[in-house]
Amino acid sequence: MASQVAVTLPESVHTRSRLFVQSSTRQTVAHHFGSAIVEAIRQQDYTCRVGRLTLHLAREFGFCYGVDDALELAYEARRRFHDRKIYLAGEIIHNPMVNGQLAAVGIQPLDGLAHLTPQDVVIIPAFGLPTPELSRLRQTGCTLIDTTCGSVVHVWKRVERYARDGFTTVIHGKYDHEETAATRSQVLAIPGGRYVVVRDLSEAERLADVISGLQPVDMLHDFFARFASPGFDPRRDLEKIGLANQTTMLASESLAIAERLRAAMTVRYGEDEVPFRFRSFDTICSATQVRQDAVAQLLAYGPDLMLVVGGYNSSNTGHLCEMAAAVCPTYHITGADCLVSAERIRHKPAFQTGEVESHHWLPAGKLTIGLTSGASTPDRILGEVIVRLIDVAGESLPPEWSVSGAGA
Ligand code: SF4
Repeated sequence: MASQVAVTLPESVHTRSRLFVQSSTRQTVAHHFGSAIVEAIRQQDYTCRVGRLTLHLAREFGFCYGVDDALELAYEARRRFHDRKIYLAGEIIHNPMVNGQLAAVGIQPLDGLAHLTPQDVVIIPAFGLPTPELSRLRQTGCTLIDTTCGSVVHVWKRVERYARDGFTTVIHGKYDHEETAATRSQVLAIPGGRYVVVRDLSEAERLADVISGLQPVDMLHDFFARFASPGFDPRRDLEKIGLANQTTMLASESLAIAERLRAAMTVRYGEDEVPFRFRSFDTICSATQVRQDAVAQLLAYGPDLMLVVGGYNSSNTGHLCEMAAAVCPTYHITGADCLVSAERIRHKPAFQTGEVESHHWLPAGKLTIGLTSGASTPDRILGEVIVRLIDVAGESLPPEWSVSGAGA
C-alpha cells in the first residue's frame, strides 16, 4: 500500500507518489534486510527439518507493507538527495538493527530543530508525527519525506470524523506509542476534539463501569488526568464515544473492548440511543491482522515451543508473543544472540516489560518449533536466529543454505 496523506502537500513534502522508488533502491533494501535462508524455507512451504528439529514459519511474518514502503522511501531519499544531510524524526520503525543500518547509510536521528536548514531533508517515520511537531518541521523549510503508513492515515481520518461529529475518541492503544501520540494530536487538531486512551480490556472495563454508572466518576480521576485529553470532563465527554485502535493491537482484545463499551452505553442510554452515541470501526491494519491469524494457524501444529523475533518495544511483536504464550512455551527475543546456549535464553516474557534469562528452554529429543517475527523485524534477523537455533540444538546447517551474500 502506498503512503498517502489527506491534504494537498506543498512541494517540499515527498511521498511515494512524488518520490518514485527505483528498482535499484528496492534491490538495495532487499540486500540489506533480506535472508536467503528465510526465503528458502518460505519456498519449502514454510517448513524445514534439520536433524531433530522441525521448524515451521508462520505464513505471514516480518516486514509489513508500511515498513517496506518506509524503508524504500528512506533509501530512495538517500539516493536522490545524496549531497544533503538527511535526518530521521524518531525511529523509522521499532527495530534497532534497522535504525542502525539507516545510520550506516548516512540517515541520522534528528536531534532538535535548531540546526535544520532548508537544505536539509527530514524523514517522517511510518508511525507518523504529532501535528505540532510536523508544523515546527515545516516552518524550518526543510524537505520532508513522509513515510506515514496509509493504515495510520486511515485511523486519523476515522478519529477526525468522530471529532467533527462531536464524539469522544476512545483509543485502544499505548498512550506513549508514537502512532497513538500522533493519533491523539489529530483529535486535538479538530476544535472541541477529545480523547481517552485505554491500554487493554481491564482499563476498558473500568471506563465501562464509569459509563454505566457502576463506579463513580471520581474513581477514575487519576486515570482521566493521565490518559485523556486536556480538560477532559467524564460527565460531559462520555455521552458519545467512538472507538479506534492503534493499528498494531491484539484484534481479539479490540473486539472485546468494543463489545464491553457498547454494552455500557446500552446500560446508560438504552438500546435505541446506542446508534446515536456509540461508533466502532476496526482500525487494526491488515498486516497486523494477517500476522496474528498466521500465528493462530501455526499454533494448530502443536509446536513444542515458539520463538517470536522482534524489538521489545514493538507493539505488534509483543501481541504475537502473547497469543503464542497462551498455548505453548514462548520466547520473545530480539535476535540470535538471545539464544545463549541450549540451556540459556534471554527473552522478554509475554505481558512483562523487561528481559529475563531462562534456563532449560530447549528440551532434548525431537522438537517442533514455531517461528514468527514482528512487522518491524528484517528477515535477515530471523535468518540469523534460525542459524543460531540449529547450532545450539547441536545440529548442522543443510549444505545448500548459504550464510553469505544476502545474509543468513
Ligand atoms: S504495522 Fe500496519 S500500520 Fe504499522 S506500518 Fe505496518 S502496515 Fe502500517
